[in-house]
Amino acid sequence: MSRTEIVHLIDRADLIADCLAQDNRPPDPLPGHLLISLFFENSTRTRASFQIAGQHLGFNVVDMSLATSSTGKGETLLDTAMTLNAMRPDVLVVRHAMSGVPHLLSHKVNCAVINAGDGNHEHPTQALTDALTIRRRKGTLEGLTVAICGDIMHSRVARSNMRLLTIMGSTVRVVAPATLMPAGIEAFGVQPFESMAEGLDGADVVMMLRLQLERMQGSLVPSTREYFRFFGLDSDKLRAAKDDAVIMHPGPINRGTELDSVLADDIGRSLILEQVAHGVAVRIAVLEALVQNAAAGGPG
Ligand code: ASP
Repeated sequence: MSRTEIVHLIDRADLIADCLAQDNRPPDPLPGHLLISLFFENSTRTRASFQIAGQHLGFNVVDMSLATSSTGKGETLLDTAMTLNAMRPDVLVVRHAMSGVPHLLSHKVNCAVINAGDGNHEHPTQALTDALTIRRRKGTLEGLTVAICGDIMHSRVARSNMRLLTIMGSTVRVVAPATLMPAGIEAFGVQPFESMAEGLDGADVVMMLRLQLERMQGSLVPSTREYFRFFGLDSDKLRAAKDDAVIMHPGPINRGTELDSVLADDIGRSLILEQVAHGVAVRIAVLEALVQNAAAGGPG
């Protein structure tokens, strides 16, 4: 996405977030569309927020429970997607443990496909949500220093945020033990650190990430206790950041592993539940844009 497209979506989501906060309704419902969500991997926030976003817009929303779908009967992923496509959805929301699956499916179906998280590759609507949350609190993304800390290696949230925030003019630092820092990370235009004290020094935003144990092969951290000691965020480590630095986390949080429980619940500094609320506004803005684009004859 270009900077202009990002700004357009965040501006629209900002207005939608105000409307939702006021009377829990989006400004312009778009009834009569069909959204099918297809989650091949666990999700709480993303899955629920796409459903709620679709329902707010007046879409018909079908959430495929994959335990009861035919993938368990040997149907291939492409056959499942083409079967659903024959039911003429407007939007297919896809999450998969393998990188590239939503992109692959988008070439096989006629409707718009939204990537709701693919492997360790991308999670675009999470990055838009985080950008909106930061902008609403700090007023801008330009010139801010954002420290993304934790399992950078396996995190699609890190990748999407690195791309989006650098496009938007933030200085992005990534902080991780050497075993969880991808080689050549500087190519993303970010600054790598192996120490929380250095990486958080003067930061405006501290974004913590979960250890993606489901994607790790072998043991990349000695123990969760030791990991917390060096890389978990507690009030001591947070002192390195600016006094008004905010704490973010895409969830699910592992309290006491990457984030101290008291900080997670600190309503003055933790934006974690605001991220969840803004996730609905962002997904409404994305659904609107796709449906309007399709109506205008665009690629969807
Ligand atoms: N919910 C986010 C994701 O799907 C972050 C996480 O699972 O740790 O990538």
